[in-house]
Amino acid sequence: MNTLLIKNGTVIDGTGNPAFSGHVLINDDRIQSVFQTGEEPPPSDAVIDAAGLAVAPGFIDMHSHADWMLPREDHDLAMKCLPEQGITTIVGGNCGFSPAPVSEKMRSLLGTSHFKLFNDRSLDFRWMSFHDFLDRIAKARPIVNSAHQVGHATLRLAWAGMHEKHLSGDTLENCLESMVRAFDEGACGLSFGLGYEPGMHASLEELSSFCRAAATADKPVSVHLKALSRLSPCYPPTSLSSHNVRALKEMIHIAKKTGVRLQISHLIFVGRNSWSTAEQCLELIEDAREYGMDIKFDAFPYTFGNTTINAVLPYWFLAGLPESHHSFWARMRLKIELAAGFRLVGFSWRDFQMMDAVLEEWQNINGYRIDEIARKWRMSPFETMLKISRDTDGQAVMMFHAYSGEPKNEKVLDQVMAHDLCLFETDAFTRYGGYPNPAALGTFPKILGQYVRQRRSFSLENAVRRMTSDSAERFNLRDRGTLTPGKKADVVLFDPETIGETPVVAGKPAGKPKGIIHVLINGVMVVKDGNYIQGIRAGQVIK
Ligand SMILES: [Zn+2]
Repeated sequence: MNTLLIKNGTVIDGTGNPAFSGHVLINDDRIQSVFQTGEEPPPSDAVIDAAGLAVAPGFIDMHSHADWMLPREDHDLAMKCLPEQGITTIVGGNCGFSPAPVSEKMRSLLGTSHFKLFNDRSLDFRWMSFHDFLDRIAKARPIVNSAHQVGHATLRLAWAGMHEKHLSGDTLENCLESMVRAFDEGACGLSFGLGYEPGMHASLEELSSFCRAAATADKPVSVHLKALSRLSPCYPPTSLSSHNVRALKEMIHIAKKTGVRLQISHLIFVGRNSWSTAEQCLELIEDAREYGMDIKFDAFPYTFGNTTINAVLPYWFLAGLPESHHSFWARMRLKIELAAGFRLVGFSWRDFQMMDAVLEEWQNINGYRIDEIARKWRMSPFETMLKISRDTDGQAVMMFHAYSGEPKNEKVLDQVMAHDLCLFETDAFTRYGGYPNPAALGTFPKILGQYVRQRRSFSLENAVRRMTSDSAERFNLRDRGTLTPGKKADVVLFDPETIGETPVVAGKPAGKPKGIIHVLINGVMVVKDGNYIQGIRAGQVIK
């Protein structure tokens, strides 16, 4: 018996109910009881005085890419920024890619860019089934709790390879069986990554088959839509409606037909000319909801996001690699297409910022925009981008800007964040080196500081509900998300008067966010006075 009393805090229990002053009693790894001030709690082995602090359930990162770090023994070095911003649970396996299951057939693909994308050191992939993978993570003792979706792209790679156009017959059956097996072994949902190979090749019938099988297993589907901007390489340029709107409509249609629970991943509007489609997209989601569909979306509070340098290259160029880098005609065509594409989508070379240039000798360009690097190197921005793509084998990690807004023009982002169906995510790669994505450091504190305290866009109770119980509900994480008796003791204590995002020092996000005081995971203190306690790994694999 090991009890801990968190005393005299402002309890925000995650249900959305009004905050109240009270105490939370934890017994071992679970919440035993919650008291209002005035009620006398029983004596406990230890006490934390939470006077002046908010006491809330640990935050759930709805959409993380840090799951790729978890198999590593020393992942805490790259991931401590998550508990330090109040995150106690991540949901992984996003955008179509999960590290499992692995088949013999796909072993040769594991060294390719897809599988190196999310991790700056390579994984050994000494697992095959989803069960083996979760087992490996449990053995590495995760720094936070982790729930894992199985990726549609991974299933396709396991059974069909990279370039297969339409899955049918036995191949489709194998993928579906493998998905259901992953569910049985602990996967919490299925994810699509339809803007990337091989997910982009899937027909609507194929996607329907996956959704139908997920619905039968009572699992949700999350989707990185086929297009996130007005124009994309995934539809013909003659398509009448905006590509992102069309992609959203297609997915809603499939979900309606199959009855699957649908989570739209990172609802972002990429490029300046896409911002005006936000209204229409939000309406489509609201209408679907009104129709009775179980649909929500998630977003991060920044006008930029991390991806790889090759995300800027069209499919035909990538398919022709490595030869396309050396073909005069391919480069010429690319130059013309990018110039036209940038103009139509509303991008400039300044919108691309280097996060991790991968090569030792290029670490001094991390943090710089492509136009700045071009000036340094005395090359055109186009040649600069191609050189980085070629010499890093597409591994350079970039921050793309002009997502749903830009500094001093965040109207669209604000509208998305304030929406009651919006849940919160970092969408961040956590890495050992390079320039950090501010989202990995300060997403949740930024929302609580900027949107709640400074702008009063929504209440603290509403924000916490969307950071906790709403997210737990999406993925059936029954033990998490509220401060109620019987739930696992994932708790964050923060100062609502000071909480805020990670400060930027000399142009670089540095240090820790403000106002996160203590964080408990499964009843164990992991962050004390704002600092991760070295070596403490109290997370669990959620099945
Ligand atoms: Zn994605």
